[in-house]
Amino acid sequence: MDSAFSKKNKYQEYFGKTHEMFRKSAREFVKKEILPYVEEWEETGEFPIELYKKVGDFGVLGIGYPEECGGTPADIFLKIFGVEEMMRSGSAGVTAGLGALDIAIPPIVRHGTDEQKEKFVKPVLAGEKIAALGITEPSGGSDVANIKTTAVPEGDHYIVNGGKTFITSGARADQLTCAVRTGGEGAHGISFLVIEKDTPGYSVSKKLKKTGWWASDTAEIYFDNCKVPKENLIGEENQGFCMIMENFQGERLHLAVMANMTAQMAFEESIKYAKEREAFGKPLSGFQVTRHKLADMATLIEASREFTYRVAAKIDAGVDQIKEVSMAKNFACTVSDRVTYDAVQIFGGYGFMRGYLVERLYRDNRILSIGGGTQEIMKEIISKLI
Ligand SMILES: Cc1cc2nc3c(=O)[nH]c(=O)nc-3n(C[C@H](O)[C@H](O)[C@H](O)COP(=O)(O)OP(=O)(O)OC[C@H]3O[C@@H](n4cnc5c(N)ncnc54)[C@H](O)[C@@H]3O)c2cc1C
Repeated sequence: MDSAFSKKNKYQEYFGKTHEMFRKSAREFVKKEILPYVEEWEETGEFPIELYKKVGDFGVLGIGYPEECGGTPADIFLKIFGVEEMMRSGSAGVTAGLGALDIAIPPIVRHGTDEQKEKFVKPVLAGEKIAALGITEPSGGSDVANIKTTAVPEGDHYIVNGGKTFITSGARADQLTCAVRTGGEGAHGISFLVIEKDTPGYSVSKKLKKTGWWASDTAEIYFDNCKVPKENLIGEENQGFCMIMENFQGERLHLAVMANMTAQMAFEESIKYAKEREAFGKPLSGFQVTRHKLADMATLIEASREFTYRVAAKIDAGVDQIKEVSMAKNFACTVSDRVTYDAVQIFGGYGFMRGYLVERLYRDNRILSIGGGTQEIMKEIISKLI
């Protein structure tokens, strides 16, 4: 009995009761507060700003952040469960929009002053303010070391000129954690500045129309002699590149989790449909080709999720996982590409129709192997480390 018990505990090594209780209440929250409205928000291209506050009050936004920042310290799996349950809304756009803070505020939490945490982190975790991350520029996103937005010191301020594009939650963000060039060319001339939206010279020039993630706003932002106080510099001048690279690890894990959930939901939809839909006098699941598709989906998802969890556990334990998190993101995206493609195939014409979840999952999935570092950039990282 004892040994069976300890085996069970070993088997459940990543999660405990707290995680499952949290998952349950997060699922209820999503069912009540998000799911019924997702169709409408997807069509209108945004979710209500009030949702930030609701999710903040529920406690999801603050998970994994220090108490002094208004967060709830927790291990990495509580955060992962939060993302997984948000994805259960069926809208990666809502998940990405609400999750933008998880790429925007970690550099402030890690390297900011107490005053910066008070001003730029606390209200965001409470859902009272919206934060976005600004790295990508119209001239390129992969070559981060080559960003062109400049911040030139002038007295107590920096004068910022340039622009950012594809910024998640950019149209509604109150503050942008923004990569700027404060030094010479290359990686060593980059700093992180928090730029507030009401700063003169800051403008949102465009809300972009996208293939997927419809419920999340994605924007272009311009700086025209934007006067930013020097006290908004995060950490030391010209140390931004390392902070950006450090920040990417969390984003890549987050995207791997989103890909795994995208695949999981597409698979669940496919199983249901394959049992209901008939062709040639029998359910689709009666054809071996369909059953094998479903078996492949299940196998790939299981392998990807387990690998992602393993990498997450090691990150949580402080083990360097730069190579592995890149592998996990690429593997999860390859799986979600394949699974969403096959799910639409199983649905036939209906899989191409709006109103079917697999159609949205197929569209929403496409960005996952581009955002947070493309599949090719992940391979560059992996190839340097093997
Ligand atoms: C919906 C959405 C939301 C986003 N949210 C944000 C956000 O919140 N903040 C933010 O800063 N950015 C955001 N991005 C930007 C995203 O991170 C970039 O799109 C991504 O990093 C790729 O940059 P790029 O689009 O400029 O492509 P490019 O860098 O121009 O790359 C184009 C192609 O060339 C390939 N390539 C480039 N360099 C190499 C190389 N060395 N070897 C091999 N192939 C290479 C790429 O893999 C890609 O296939 C978002 C993008 C989208 C679409």
